[in-house]
Amino acid sequence: MVKRDLSDLPAGPPPEEPERVALGERVAQPLFAQAVEAWFEDLDQTERPRAVEGTAWRASMASVRCDRAAWYQLRGVPKTEPPSIADEWRMNNGQLVHDVLDRYQDRVFPEVHGQSRVHNEVTFDLAPFGLSGSGHCDFVHYWDAPEGGLHCEAVEVKTVGGFKFKTATSRFKGPPEGPGYDHWAQAALAGLAFDAQRIRIVYIAFENIGADLVRRWNLAEVDRFLAEWTMERDQFLPIAQAELVRARLLVDLASMEPGSPTDVPMRMLDLAGRRVLVSDPRKGSWVQTDGPNQELVHDAGTSWHCDYCRFRTQCLSDGA
Ligand code: SF4
Repeated sequence: MVKRDLSDLPAGPPPEEPERVALGERVAQPLFAQAVEAWFEDLDQTERPRAVEGTAWRASMASVRCDRAAWYQLRGVPKTEPPSIADEWRMNNGQLVHDVLDRYQDRVFPEVHGQSRVHNEVTFDLAPFGLSGSGHCDFVHYWDAPEGGLHCEAVEVKTVGGFKFKTATSRFKGPPEGPGYDHWAQAALAGLAFDAQRIRIVYIAFENIGADLVRRWNLAEVDRFLAEWTMERDQFLPIAQAELVRARLLVDLASMEPGSPTDVPMRMLDLAGRRVLVSDPRKGSWVQTDGPNQELVHDAGTSWHCDYCRFRTQCLSDGA
């Protein structure tokens, strides 16, 4: 259908602008930010000591999936992007969640054989598995084994943002993604150290899933901010073994003399056991190569790891 040109018809008066409701003004220099800044100044930012003194690898380094970033950390290279006030605020909020769980654990888990069923912040040593490494497990939960004695599970509690929680638990962006591989790897190391039957990951979100989605997805109120997953021993042991192999290699590499040919490792990212090369840390872009001289690119993508890396400026100055 051809539309007629109506521009020659007489035009009416322009519609009146609706009266604006006063919304106030955003303050350029917020008053209360000063209180938070004072808190940040007082904050003790010294690194938490190793769970077992003298060990090189922290189990929490499972979240550092890049070889080079892990190497910087192991070598004690100063962070070129240290945690900011926003990072510290976020981490301290996460600590509040742990404090609540610690306070209520005894009420929820009754005693077994005169002892608490759940222990929090339990230290473990990875030396028996050939790694100079250690960690703290958020909770180790025990129960009666049918054959007598006790079974246990290693539990990692992670506080996450609303977007991460939604993608992990719902069909918000395709099928639910579940916990990140880094969280499974950290829990798997703890599970190995405690000879656990099972590992458990608890996600607690900082923002609730919105009321409209609660109705659409038929969620319970607690599902709006908390979800748990478990993995049995036969599934998590291979993850723990792969993580041990990776950590041993990096600890060996970091103990080499500076200036050796292997100084500053390549920018290799381990994405759930898949090794890719970061091609541009500014964008977080990576390639997966193949062929005799790694000349064939058969996949490429981007990842968030470089955005959150504490050594990005250092990495760029060290070159490829
Ligand atoms: S910026 Fe990216 S490639 Fe470089 S060390 Fe950090 S995570 Fe690795």
